[in-house]
Amino acid sequence: MVNTVQLIILAVALFIVFILSKLYKNTKKVAMPDIPDAKTIKRVLASDVAFYQQLGAAEQLRFEERVAYFLSQVRITPIQDAPVEMEDRVFVAAAGVIPLFRFKNWFYNNLDEVLIYPDTFSKDFELKGAHRNVAGMVGDGFMHRTMILSLQYLRAGFLQHTKGNTAIHEFVHLVDKSDGAVDGIPENLLGQPYLKAWVSLVYEYIKEIREQEIKDINPYGASNPEEFFAVVSEYFFQEPELLEANHPDLYRMLEKAFRGR
Ligand SMILES: [Zn+2]
Repeated sequence: MVNTVQLIILAVALFIVFILSKLYKNTKKVAMPDIPDAKTIKRVLASDVAFYQQLGAAEQLRFEERVAYFLSQVRITPIQDAPVEMEDRVFVAAAGVIPLFRFKNWFYNNLDEVLIYPDTFSKDFELKGAHRNVAGMVGDGFMHRTMILSLQYLRAGFLQHTKGNTAIHEFVHLVDKSDGAVDGIPENLLGQPYLKAWVSLVYEYIKEIREQEIKDINPYGASNPEEFFAVVSEYFFQEPELLEANHPDLYRMLEKAFRGR
């Protein structure tokens, strides 16, 4: 009789151990296949991100950490089977880190998710149709806290060396938005003393682009002050030397905004 009771207790105990070990296995951190590891981050930054390549060793490490942090905070979701690779995820994060890099503790509190479409999309997010011409956008209304990027443009921004980088452009809009309004006036970056000078510079440039006196700045930047700020920021991060040579006044202002000097 005693033996049977002991056997039952033993069986129950074994069963509990079995269940607990199962539970423990399930709660153990699952590998996150969607998030690039530190080695991949470093490799992609070193081979394709010019901004990172120009940093010193300590700053490069800080950049890598910021990219990893970004990837832990913002969801990146492929839409319509966009073939998003680990490299592309690093590109999104790098584009997000670049405009804020001088601010050690600033992060996007206005972004939860980045949707990646395979191709350009029209403004109502339909991929088929006549107006397949948007390469990136920051959502509003029900798309609030969401950014949309085209995979082709995301890659081109880093792999083809031009004055354009769609992902950086969209993140600059988010930085612009952080003071409450997407208006091309980056209060958080520039500080009060420079805002007046910035605004007059913006209108002067927009006028000259429209009159075709300036031809090296993407004319889309002349649409309005917010597009101007985003377009010249792309130029600043992609081709800083060229911007400095062609438009030193604009370069100095952006240097103050993005480098704090
Ligand atoms: Zn824009």
